[in-house]
Amino acid sequence: MPADPSRVIANLRELAALTGDANGAQRVAFTPTWQRAREWFAGKLTGLPVTQHRDAAGNVWVTLRGASPRSLVLGSHLDSVPNGGWLDGALGVMTALEVLCGIACDSNGRPPFTIRVVDWADEEGARFGRSLFGSSAFAGTHSIAADRARTDRDGVTLEAALAGSGIEIDKIGEAANERKNIAAYLELHIEQGPVLERLGLPLGAVLGTKGVERHSITFHGQEAHSGSTPMADRRDALAAAARLALEIRSIAMRHADAVCTMGSVKTFPGIVTAVVGRCEATLDQRDLDASILATMYSEAQKASQLFAEQERCTVEWSRIWSIEPIPFHPKLIELCREAIAETQGTPAHSLPSGPLHDAAEVARLGIPTVMMFVQSLHGISHNKIEDTREEHLRLAVAAFDRLAAKTLGWMKTSAAS
Ligand SMILES: [Zn+2]
Repeated sequence: MPADPSRVIANLRELAALTGDANGAQRVAFTPTWQRAREWFAGKLTGLPVTQHRDAAGNVWVTLRGASPRSLVLGSHLDSVPNGGWLDGALGVMTALEVLCGIACDSNGRPPFTIRVVDWADEEGARFGRSLFGSSAFAGTHSIAADRARTDRDGVTLEAALAGSGIEIDKIGEAANERKNIAAYLELHIEQGPVLERLGLPLGAVLGTKGVERHSITFHGQEAHSGSTPMADRRDALAAAARLALEIRSIAMRHADAVCTMGSVKTFPGIVTAVVGRCEATLDQRDLDASILATMYSEAQKASQLFAEQERCTVEWSRIWSIEPIPFHPKLIELCREAIAETQGTPAHSLPSGPLHDAAEVARLGIPTVMMFVQSLHGISHNKIEDTREEHLRLAVAAFDRLAAKTLGWMKTSAAS
């Protein structure tokens, strides 16, 4: 039975009405509204030949047991940012459930392979600033020591919020038990960017998630009186930072999909009557190709040194965070492209993802993984105006259903070989 896009859309609207308000979706992880969303989701399983359980990190797993324990996992996340959109995450979970329903129906509740749907816990990290909570616990990349003391705006610790949701922080690593027998992972998500809309395409196959180099850069000059210091005598830390802010645009634009962002600039003493003595900036650089990322990083460093010298300042760098590019599985990308082309009737476009997703944590483990993107209107998400045309949502559900079928076919041949 093919997946029914109308039911997915009706479910999404129901969830939005239940867990959103005039400002958008309010399913922030580890809050009562999020729990309500998950209870509502559990209610949608009534009558299906599935079992449901929550792992040690709070991820919810729905299992349709097949003749073989080898599993195809489909999923995304029900949590949202505060004042979020109705599709981010929820589209992937509800489509996954719809595909599972179809497979259960076609196989009289006993498919050749096991099918599982996962709702990852706290993908957004909106409350504690730690994204991909559940999937990183599953992947074993979570750092409990560093995250234990994180607090939300009201001073509640992550540890306490987890305990409130029945999760023991010292046991979240046990979510790794869920990795057993997973043959492939598929995730449908809105693009959250403008690329597909600009190309006039409803769907895209995702090549992987971009690697990130995130640094803080401090320029040191000399504080001086803005009235008495001649221009030629200044050591203006902001001038050096400003030149770098412009230079990173050309550094990024030499590559098709690279992005560089100076998202924060603080000046000291930061008063109207002083030349800036110290300027603290941040730089976020991303690309899917590790060598391009490394090149951009070293180009930015060299440029910062040159500008610092020319402005008679000094510069120091310190890494805030980095992650390597995570490419998805070549065969699954090919199947995703086929599923898209057959559904939309035109050749498929492939693109990297700038944002990280739970799928990246799964792929890091070496589990064959791919994501499918559906166009986001105006490229906007994390906002109540986040939207996708209904005809595109319908195509997305149909194409994802096709991708699941193709992946099951591939699992059969790869098991035989
Ligand atoms: Zn998301």
